[in-house]
Amino acid sequence: MNSAMEVRFFDGRSTRPHAARLHVQGDQLLLAPAAGEDFEALRLPLAHLRWPERTRHGGRLLQLPDGASVQALDVVAWDAWVAQLGRSESWVVRAQQNWRGVGLAVLLLIGAIAVLYQWGLPWAARGVTAAVPVRVDALIGAEVLESIDQSMLLPSALPREHQERLRAGFARMVKAAHPDDAPAWKLEFRRGRDRRLGPNALALPGGTIILTDELVQLMPGDDDAVLGVLGHEFGHVRLRHAMRQLVQASAVGFAVSIAFGDYGTLIGSAPVLLATLGYSRDAEREADVESVRLMRAAGIHPRVMVGFFEAIERWRTEQKRAGADDDAIGLAFSSHPATAERIAFFREAPDN
Ligand SMILES: [Zn+2]
Repeated sequence: MNSAMEVRFFDGRSTRPHAARLHVQGDQLLLAPAAGEDFEALRLPLAHLRWPERTRHGGRLLQLPDGASVQALDVVAWDAWVAQLGRSESWVVRAQQNWRGVGLAVLLLIGAIAVLYQWGLPWAARGVTAAVPVRVDALIGAEVLESIDQSMLLPSALPREHQERLRAGFARMVKAAHPDDAPAWKLEFRRGRDRRLGPNALALPGGTIILTDELVQLMPGDDDAVLGVLGHEFGHVRLRHAMRQLVQASAVGFAVSIAFGDYGTLIGSAPVLLATLGYSRDAEREADVESVRLMRAAGIHPRVMVGFFEAIERWRTEQKRAGADDDAIGLAFSSHPATAERIAFFREAPDN
């Protein structure tokens, strides 16, 4: 038996993480609840697991059957643990002797090489996303909203008039920038159950944008920056970034099931994947471009975003000092640090 690995376990039904420990025993993976957790321990044949790839940034997410998954707490420790497994256990060898394992590995490898070699992953994900019907985005969005409503959100306490003012302002911006090619969108006001989400906005697949009261209150009396953030989220909606990211995250596996019109896996694992993943820098840049386009259409100077980023940064620093977990939802606005490049983009954007 090798050493234990502390992980976050998601049961596939809610986005609430459970503390758990992983062990390997023979050719089985054991997932046991940490003290204070009460889910049932899992035992899974190692040969049936798809280990997450080592990527430069981003977490390690091991997907389990039924939409469940395990997330590494410490990426470096996780990689070392997996490497040690490969050396000390014979399960790799056994998996290779298992014909299903070999068949699947070869299929995945050929698929992955073909995709990477010919088109590159982001491009492929864009193509696959284009083939997914938009109603699938809406299904996933509804699923995710329900899941985070249960685990992280409460109804908004923002006065109704203020909500309506923001919604009308946003609608005007969208109409001005995209008179006849705007995708469907819906603005939902919420506040965080605890301090994890804080001032935030989040675009779900299907066009639902969640805006937290904390974000509206970050700069009281100044709704322009809030509209700028909504413009950014609208960019993610218009370009279907969340769906593209979902497709890309499990590229080949999803591509195969999507090719057969099977969206079950995609929908089932969406809440956890979206909670874990972040957007690429390119996606953030595209959303920022959209934000500037919308602000200009509404006569708002993009420079308002500079002060806003500073306010968000102050909030993050404060959170860190309080020892809070700041990666509540990977795709959410305040999980993307405002790089100098992004701030300069808004500062230097011309008025029109
Ligand atoms: Zn973003």
